[in-house]
This record gives sequence, structure tokens and C-alpha cells, in this order.
Amino acid sequence: MKAVAIEGKCQLKLIETEPPQATDSKLLIKVERTGICGSDIHMWHNGVPVGLIMGHEFGGTIADPGPAKDMFKVGDRVTALPVNPCMECKYCKRQLYAACVKYMDDAPGISTPGAYAEYMLANPLMVRKLPDGMTMEEGAMVEPAAVALRAVHLGNVQPGDRVLVVGAGIIGLLCAAWARISGAAYVALSELNPVRREKALAFGDVDEVFDAGDPKLQKKLLTRTDGGFDKTFECAGPAPAVQSAIGATGYGGTVVLVGVNYDLVPIYTMRVNMREIMIKGSYGYSPDEFDTSIDYIARKVLKTDRFVDDIVGLEDLQKAFERLDDPKGDAVKIMVKP
Ligand SMILES: [Zn+2]
Ligand SMILES: [Zn+2]
Repeated sequence: MKAVAIEGKCQLKLIETEPPQATDSKLLIKVERTGICGSDIHMWHNGVPVGLIMGHEFGGTIADPGPAKDMFKVGDRVTALPVNPCMECKYCKRQLYAACVKYMDDAPGISTPGAYAEYMLANPLMVRKLPDGMTMEEGAMVEPAAVALRAVHLGNVQPGDRVLVVGAGIIGLLCAAWARISGAAYVALSELNPVRREKALAFGDVDEVFDAGDPKLQKKLLTRTDGGFDKTFECAGPAPAVQSAIGATGYGGTVVLVGVNYDLVPIYTMRVNMREIMIKGSYGYSPDEFDTSIDYIARKVLKTDRFVDDIVGLEDLQKAFERLDDPKGDAVKIMVKP
């Protein structure tokens, strides 16, 4: 089968490899669509592990139900949580799979072969059927939608809340959409890239966009909200974005850190003290949040097709990564059709 693997720093390679076979613990999925995730781009930048087939956001059909013949049949349309939790640790017992002590040992597309391939393996307990009428593109959007839903849950967005999203990447856009669905009265978004600002506004979940590079940004945001936002979602990662998220949050507000940064980020703790701001981290999602995402996408309450900029073949994956990585680029989500 054809697949794409990491070859080095910012370099992917189209490879020909033996297709995997269902085992006594894994079923076989024929991959139809795979979304390119920001975390894939991080790994691509680092260029390791060489040889890994990434891709953890996908829609596909069952090619061989393997050990799960009573649950699935060939041709069933599915997606899956890209994890293989141990089911034994204290976190797994509470269904907090993202916290599983062995979470990273076998995560398709992250530590074991994933969905930038024609076929992949998955743990049947993590596989979910797609409701009728749900497209393969929508199936591949469930995973990032669940990431954003967890953040919005942790932010506890309430009807009437004033919400700020920092960063108009796909997770930021999905946070804005979930915040709107949750009843937010005013949703603002800050972003450096003017093309992405325009797109975010056009999607309709955001009331107003702000230039993240504007030196008067904080003043403008505080004026606009009469002292600060109730809930802020930091979906970018760089230090100025985190600082701006905290600086724009009002008294008793919550900042949810969703964006990824591997380095130390200095913040003004004084503002956190004086405004009694709560800062929370968000990572992954629960099975419930994954299933809720399927339900909302299937019923078109959460519309995800609008976010898909392009669908490319495996041979064009390298170019798609470069396009998504361009800080001036317009794309937020590109999918692969293996
Ligand atoms: Zn992802
Ligand atoms: Zn576990």
C-alpha cells in the first residue's frame, strides 16, 4: 500500500509498504480521509521519529473487523479515538484516556502507524460508527472538534458569556463554534494573519476580529468588554499570545490554554492575582466529548465542511504541510484522500 512517512526535518516521503493485517486485538480500517493536524506539523518540523506514518484524524471504512465481528462488518463507515489506552490505570478507569500512563505507547499516527496510508489498525473499543449522512470529511473532523469541545467544557462557557479566542487556526475556529453553540453572547478573535482574520469572520461564529499584532490590542479588548472577557481560549501557543489571553481576561474569568509551546512562557502573575483569573490547561478529550462531537457534526449543528480548504492525494502531502505552515497562508485544514 501507499503511505507517507516522516523522512527528516520538514520532509515527508511517499513510501510503498506492506499493508497491516487485523490482529487479535486490532481491526483494519481502509482510510478515506485524513485531516492534517497542527501537532503533525510540529512533528514534521522536528523531523522525528523518522519512518513514522502520522495521521490521527480520519474517516474510513472497516476492511476487516478482526476480533470485533460482533460489533462491525466490512464496509461500516467509521472514525476512531486515535489511542489505545491500557484500561487498567486509575485514569482509564475514569475514562480519562488522555491521561493514561501508557497513552503515548500506542497512539495511531502519533507513536504507531496512522492514517496517512491506505490502511491502518485501530482498537475496536475506540472505533465509532458514523451516522448516515455524515461525510468522510466530517468523520475526519470529529477528533479536532473533540479537542475544542474539551477546551470549551473546561472553560465552562455559559449563555451570555463574552468569549475571546486567541488564534484562528482550526482549533481556535472550532472553539469559537462550540462557544457559540454553548450560548456565548459575544465571541471575539485575535489573530496575526489578516487572511485568517477575514476567514474567521466569514465563518459566522465570531462577532469581531482583532489584529493580534496591534500594540493597542489589550486596551481595545478591555474597552470592548468593559474590563475583560469571561472566558478566553488560547489556541496559538507563542508567549505574546498567552500574555495577551491573560491580559484580556476580566475579573473572575478563566483562561484555557489549548495552544502548544515547548518553551518557558513568562506571564504577568500580578494580573492573574488582581483579577482572580483561573488558568486551566486542556489536552485531548473524553470518549463522551468525542461522541458528542460526532452527534453535533452529524446533525449539522456543528458545520465542519466549511473549514476544509482542500483535499489532496498522498503524493501532495508534503506541499500541503508547507501550505499549512506558511504564516501568511490562507489554509486552516487540508485533508488527504489516500
Ligand atoms: Zn489532531
Ligand atoms: Zn491507562
